[in-house]
Amino acid sequence: MTNSGRYPWFDTHWEQLVSLRQQSRLPHAIILKSVDGLGLVQLADNLAKSVLCKTPTDDGYACNQCRDCGLLAADTHPDYHYISVLDDKKYISIEQIRALVNITQERPHQGGYRVAVIDPIETLNDASANALLKTLEEPGSDTLIILVANNNLNFPATINSRCQLKTILSPTEQQGLDWLVLQPDYEREDMNTLRVALRLSSHAPLKAMNLLSSDQFKSRNKFLKGMSETALGRLDPEKLAASVGKNDILDSINWMYSLSLDALKLTTAVSKDSLTNFDHFDLLESLASRNPMALNRWSDQIMEAKRLFTTTSNITPQLILEDLLFRWIAIFR
Ligand SMILES: [Zn+2]
Repeated sequence: MTNSGRYPWFDTHWEQLVSLRQQSRLPHAIILKSVDGLGLVQLADNLAKSVLCKTPTDDGYACNQCRDCGLLAADTHPDYHYISVLDDKKYISIEQIRALVNITQERPHQGGYRVAVIDPIETLNDASANALLKTLEEPGSDTLIILVANNNLNFPATINSRCQLKTILSPTEQQGLDWLVLQPDYEREDMNTLRVALRLSSHAPLKAMNLLSSDQFKSRNKFLKGMSETALGRLDPEKLAASVGKNDILDSINWMYSLSLDALKLTTAVSKDSLTNFDHFDLLESLASRNPMALNRWSDQIMEAKRLFTTTSNITPQLILEDLLFRWIAIFR
C-alpha cells in the first residue's frame, strides 16, 4: 500500500490536520470542501489511515507497516468505514447511515479511533442527512467522521454547523502548471495547452489531467473549429450538432458557455492573457466584435440550456445543441 494523493496543494492543510492530531485536538467531524478535481477523497483517505495507524511517520502519514495498516491494506479494518452511494442507487441510504450510527455507539475494535469517510456529501438525501445528525451531535469518543464535499455545493446547514469546515482552494495557475509538467504524460506538452486545460477545469489539476488524457480536449478543438466554420457559413449547424456524440453534448454546451463568457470579457477590453479560450483567439475576437446585446442573449440562452439539460429528462439533447448553434450563427448575420 502506498500513500498516494500527496498532492502539493494539500500540504499546508495536511500539516494543520497532523498537528491537530498530534495535540489530540482533531474535531469529531470534518467537512473537506473544494471544487471537483483536487483529489479530496485521497486527502480524506490519507487522514483516515493516518488516524488509524499506530505508528505514523514523522510527516503524519500511515506507516504501512503496523497491524492496523495491514488491515487497512486488506480492506478489513473493523474501525474504518467508507460510505458512498451503492451501485444501483442515487443517494446514500438511511440504512447505510443507521449502520454507521450503530457502529459509533459501540467500542472501537482495535482500541483506537473509529473513522468513517462519507463520499461525497451531496449524495446524502434529506433522510440520510437527518439520520447522520444524531451521530454528529453525539459521536462517541475517538470517532472521526470525514465528509467529502467536492463540488463546492451548499449542503444542509444542520450538518454544516456540527462539523469543522476545511475549504481547500485550487492551486494557483503556476503551481498547477508546475505539477502538471512533472507528470510523465505531460512533460512534453505545450505549455499553452496545459494552461487552457487548467483554466477550463477551474484550476483543478486532476480535472485538467483528465481533460487532456481523454479525447475531450481534442473534441473541444474540433467543436470550436466547427463553430468557426458555421459562423462563416461553410458548415450547417445541423451537421455540426449531428457530429457531436450523445455523451459529448453537455461538454459542447459547456465549451460554448466558456466561449461566450470570454467574448463578453473581451468586449470590456481585458487582456488576451486572462481569457480561458485564448487558444481560439480569432474566434473570440470576431465574436466580441458583434452586437453585445446579441452576445449577452446568447450567453443567457446557453445557461438556460445547461439548466434544462441537468434538470429535465424529456428533452432531446441534439436539438438543444442545434438550437444554440442556430442562435450562434444569427449573431453573425
Ligand atoms: Zn501503520
